[in-house]
Amino acid sequence: CLDPNGGTVQQITVCVRKRPMSRKEENSKNLDIITVPSADSLIVHELRLKVDLTKFLEHHKFRFDYTFDEECSNALVYDHTARPLIRTMFEGGNATCFAYGQTGSGKTHTMGGEFFGKVQDCGTGIYAMAARDVFEEVSRPEYRQMGAKITCSFFEIYGTKVFDLLLPNKPMLRVLEDARQQVVVVGLTEMPVTKVEDVLRLIEHGSKERTSGQTSANAKSSRSHAVFQIALHFPDSWGPHGKCSFVDLAGNERGADTQSADRQTRIEGAEINKSLLALKECIRALSRQSSHLPFRGSKLTQVLRDSFVGGKKNKTCMIAMISPSMSCVENTLNTLRYADRVKEL
Ligand code: ADP
Ligand code: MG
Repeated sequence: CLDPNGGTVQQITVCVRKRPMSRKEENSKNLDIITVPSADSLIVHELRLKVDLTKFLEHHKFRFDYTFDEECSNALVYDHTARPLIRTMFEGGNATCFAYGQTGSGKTHTMGGEFFGKVQDCGTGIYAMAARDVFEEVSRPEYRQMGAKITCSFFEIYGTKVFDLLLPNKPMLRVLEDARQQVVVVGLTEMPVTKVEDVLRLIEHGSKERTSGQTSANAKSSRSHAVFQIALHFPDSWGPHGKCSFVDLAGNERGADTQSADRQTRIEGAEINKSLLALKECIRALSRQSSHLPFRGSKLTQVLRDSFVGGKKNKTCMIAMISPSMSCVENTLNTLRYADRVKEL
């Protein structure tokens, strides 16, 4: 795989990952309409109808920092997205990696919050690979001498409510902002961890809490943002030295919500829309080094405020996930356009 960016870590990286066709999509004769001609470009071949009902193909070409086709593994995606950000935490900054896309596009698969019944299953995603690299770094003598400690947090934002995924029955937490605009999630579990297996167990527990009580795998979890954080602490200092946040965002498909007969569904859908728009604006503010940060636009951006302030010290990566199939073309184009604008200055 050729690296179009020559290995340099930019402040903001935007990538796209295409997942493989599912068995179901193949059986229903759905077409794969995405090609990835190079490591930084992607084309959507949209089948359209003219007024006289003749068919034609419209080709939408996009460029991103990296584009991953269906052959790419989680490990390869990790190497080009979250892995270069791990250093940030040791340099005292905040690194944040977002998985964005419609429900079923591969966000949870990429992050590693899929749980099939064995703890090791969690070990192949970005959460676990990041934890492995953090432990490797922190085991160096200089960090050991300084008494460095690692903690993990895992929480979910559902509507405007925050739930701790590391405690039984995921209790709701309050979010407070002090006079200096510091945002605190009151009582959030910061679990001390000393090895990758500890982290796998937390991911397993949190992933189960996230999906518990749901009738289908993608019911409620697709309507919540999950935030997994790894923080570096030194003794006697207030707050963490640096932090890595991994965010499995709520599905971005919201068309049906506005029509829904259910009031709660409409309110939730509106909140998801609002949070994804606020997120885009906050990443753009970070890239422009703007003094105006619209982090109060949603609970998601408020809770992640630290990710967007602090200028050059902070780094962000967005992985936009897309489904290959023709039936998803509208959502796919929406996802790609959103990802395109995150970085446009
Ligand atoms: P999302 O979290 O975006 O709703 P999921 O991660 O749950 O989507 O993915 C939907 C389905 O597709 C899951 O069964 C998952 O295992 C599968 N899947 C997603 N991405 C890939 C991939 N890159 N390779 C193989 N299977 C994938
Ligand atoms: Mg998911």
